[in-house]
Amino acid sequence: MNTPYWVAGQATSSADVVEVRSPYDGALAGTTSNATAQDVERAVAAAADVAEEFASLPAHARSAALDHVSRRLAERAEEVAALITAESGKPLKWSRMEVARAVSTFRWAAEEARRFSGELQRLDTDPAATGRLALVRRSPRGVVLGIAPFNFPLNLVAHKVAPAIAVGAPIVLKPAPATPLVALLLGSILAETDLPAGSWSVIPVPNEVAGELVADPRLPVVSFTGSGPVGYGILDRVPRKHVVLELGGNAAAVVCPDWADLDWAAQRIATFAMYQGGQSCISVQRVYLHADVYDAVAEAVVAHVRKLGTGAPQDPSTDVGPLINEAAAQRVESWVDEAVAAGATLLTGGTRDGAVYAPTVLADVPADCKVVDEEVFGPVVVLTRVASVEEAFDKVNDSRFGLQAGLFTTDVRLAFKASKRLAVGGVIVGDVPSFRADQMPYGGVKESGTGREGVHAAMTDLTEEHVLVLTGL
Ligand code: NAD
Repeated sequence: MNTPYWVAGQATSSADVVEVRSPYDGALAGTTSNATAQDVERAVAAAADVAEEFASLPAHARSAALDHVSRRLAERAEEVAALITAESGKPLKWSRMEVARAVSTFRWAAEEARRFSGELQRLDTDPAATGRLALVRRSPRGVVLGIAPFNFPLNLVAHKVAPAIAVGAPIVLKPAPATPLVALLLGSILAETDLPAGSWSVIPVPNEVAGELVADPRLPVVSFTGSGPVGYGILDRVPRKHVVLELGGNAAAVVCPDWADLDWAAQRIATFAMYQGGQSCISVQRVYLHADVYDAVAEAVVAHVRKLGTGAPQDPSTDVGPLINEAAAQRVESWVDEAVAAGATLLTGGTRDGAVYAPTVLADVPADCKVVDEEVFGPVVVLTRVASVEEAFDKVNDSRFGLQAGLFTTDVRLAFKASKRLAVGGVIVGDVPSFRADQMPYGGVKESGTGREGVHAAMTDLTEEHVLVLTGL
């Protein structure tokens, strides 16, 4: 039976069947169907109709629903992880981690739904406002259209759905075409809650239909995570809507001369340059190593990368599986070949087997090569020697992206300096840029996007302030 999609909380199917296959071996992960035009209309109309009622639903009811989702995901963790692996080719160990994160994302949203509130502001700081007080209330901006990418098919869907429910904003979610099944499984868990029908829908649709949805005036908020060209295309199309863009990056790590445990830094760099085949927007792509530590770290990175298990994603010991399809692996291959032709040194990797690209370490890469300049979104890391931390900071900033950076140092003054000086949404001190806790504000500057996710930040972003001024107090 086809996995149903969800229209206004109801399980639904169409004749437009979609097969979802593993990028590793083509095994069938499951089937579903694309929502019909009538079902898309029903989802949007129901969301718009229920918006006022949903915004008034008590916080305890929204919190209870979110808590239920968190608990059910935890109970079904192994099944959910296996499904992520089956449809995306993500190695099981990383799928398990993603499920654990989604459990936490929903739990945080359940807690924040109870805490999230407005504020009381005194206005009598100015003689003209003596005796006045402002109540600042936050209310949802309206129905959210959530558009999700393939690389975290559960947790990035959670980052759209959970904050919307927490603030009482209906959501119409469009999962990525390669990975709809786990989002639909999440729908089956949402269907167990008492959330009002219409407050949520999960509808797989082709990209053309998603493009039309973006322009629908009944969906005033578009929350998009994905690639820059698609994201900026959306912004250009609806410049007056509230558009959140969580886009790509080419994250950098800097290893400073004071960092003592060089082998640990190298192991973290190797792991998080290659995890889920580098298909993370904060995967380590560029590494700037101070000359004092370059040789030791470079050698250790290569040694750790060579130890990574590559192959079948279902094998719990696999670290690096396939990319999302063979075309993605061919693109990565061509970018590495371009760098090598331009004079780069291939320290390890550089081979492809179908959709699996071998974990690859490059050095001496000219700065204008795509593996430095663009988002690789593959298991490739570029090591660069720098004469000073200042030079590393300049190089980190020499990018049109700015999501996160990692800084291996124990110098607290340098940490603060990095926070001011690096043009990124977050600096991770003592670790790789790939660290993300789901409650912290997360997002990019420059072409990595606008707006912030992270449960509380997203809830703030999905709501607007209304002031009620009381006089004569
Ligand atoms: P993508 O841009 O190809 O697709 C993202 C989503 O947009 C998918 O659901 C897709 O179906 C949809 N889409 C495509 N064309 C559309 C259109 N015309 N109108 C509306 N929707 C449309 O991205 P992807 O390949 O799924 O994901 C990889 C990208 O996502 C990378 O660039 C990665 O860095 C980025 N990403 C960013 C973050 C972040 O938080 N900043 C997190 C994960 C991934």
